[in-house]
Amino acid sequence: MKNILILGAGTGGIITAHELQKKAGDKVKITLFEKEEKNVFVPSLLWLMVGKRSPQQVFRSTKSLNRKGIEVVLGNIEKIQPENISLNVNGKSYHGDFMVVALGASLYSEHNLPQYGHNFYTLDGATSFYNKLSTFKGGKIVILVSSLPFKCPAAPYEAAMLIESYIRKKGLKNKTEISIYTPETQPMPVTGKELGNAVKMMVEQKGIHYFTEHQVTSVNQQTLTFSNGKTADYDLLAFTPKHIPPQVIRDSTLPGKSGWIDVNRNTMETNFSGIFAIGDNTIIPLESGKPLPKAGVFAHYQAETVAQNIANRIKGEPDSKNFNGVGQCFLELGNGKAGYAYGNFYASPSPVVKMKNPGFWWHWEKVWFEKYWWFKYF
Ligand SMILES: Cc1cc2nc3c(=O)[nH]c(=O)nc-3n(C[C@H](O)[C@H](O)[C@H](O)COP(=O)(O)OP(=O)(O)OC[C@H]3O[C@@H](n4cnc5c(N)ncnc54)[C@H](O)[C@@H]3O)c2cc1C
Repeated sequence: MKNILILGAGTGGIITAHELQKKAGDKVKITLFEKEEKNVFVPSLLWLMVGKRSPQQVFRSTKSLNRKGIEVVLGNIEKIQPENISLNVNGKSYHGDFMVVALGASLYSEHNLPQYGHNFYTLDGATSFYNKLSTFKGGKIVILVSSLPFKCPAAPYEAAMLIESYIRKKGLKNKTEISIYTPETQPMPVTGKELGNAVKMMVEQKGIHYFTEHQVTSVNQQTLTFSNGKTADYDLLAFTPKHIPPQVIRDSTLPGKSGWIDVNRNTMETNFSGIFAIGDNTIIPLESGKPLPKAGVFAHYQAETVAQNIANRIKGEPDSKNFNGVGQCFLELGNGKAGYAYGNFYASPSPVVKMKNPGFWWHWEKVWFEKYWWFKYF
């Protein structure tokens, strides 16, 4: 029996545990470590922001991931020792034959942002944003990207378009101004100009104001100030927080110079043999010089790769699966419609990403995926 330690029960950790159980269930003991009791399906936070989901609909209990062959340990991982594939949690030490690190990005709010606005990347922030939106009578709504990088590069644009749809249906369009402020040069810069321009056009066609190269430096009750000297007033503020590598990773010998974990971009193995890292806690530089975006779809495919190769190694077989940089995502546009972007982020010399014509179908695919997630894993 081999001991497999999986750190983090988010997208990457959950899929690794399930795939490994499926592929080598009789040969492995899987332990899945997670600090949060509420396991949130974060893509649904965008619907929660505009009242299309209630808070109770977007999470399940982490304990319900417990099943035959997968033991869930609830607690904050305090220490990781890659040198001997071990970790400490709840004052107890666990040792493994393989380790998969999927601790995501830690979210951290600068400039007192939580005092004035709503961090819609969290259950509480998306909930409190909707509480304010539902009684909004008109004024200025700002969606702020406070810092780069941030996970799901499409999310602020989706949030803005969903809010616009909500405001229009409420008959408040004439009394409301919606703006996005971001340090980026365009939407989803890593995907190239074509897709970026398409998203910019979609946003602006809905009457949403879009301001690039605006890095927030301070915030007060009604005004944002940016490093270029400009300011913006707001009545209702939603923001993406700063993303940093989890402290427990920074305190270990796992990360590279950036603080994120360097990996072999095809096998996701770290500099330590038998230790893999997947998802948002890794950094994968692309040929274009930009890193692979932090997105659940990549954590998902990387998890499948790692699970397959660990199962192979246990059976004495060579690695048989590579993560190839291919990914896709839905882009919510409001009015029950969505777009669908797909492409190869490992393409040379730069990613090749295309978008299918927006429609109702893609929105329903996203809804279906949410249902499938709950059904399959919880
Ligand atoms: C609003 C929103 C919408 C999104 N929509 C999409 C989308 O449509 N498509 C897409 O591809 N991506 C989307 N994403 C991004 C996606 O959710 C993340 O990229 C994905 O969850 C990353 O998976 P992960 O396993 O690396 O990390 P996570 O899913 O963040 O999981 C990490 C887990 O580790 C746990 N953890 C951290 N530190 C510790 C510790 N010390 N001890 C114990 N446990 C710990 C955390 O609690 C967490 O559960 C969205 C994100 C947001 C915020």
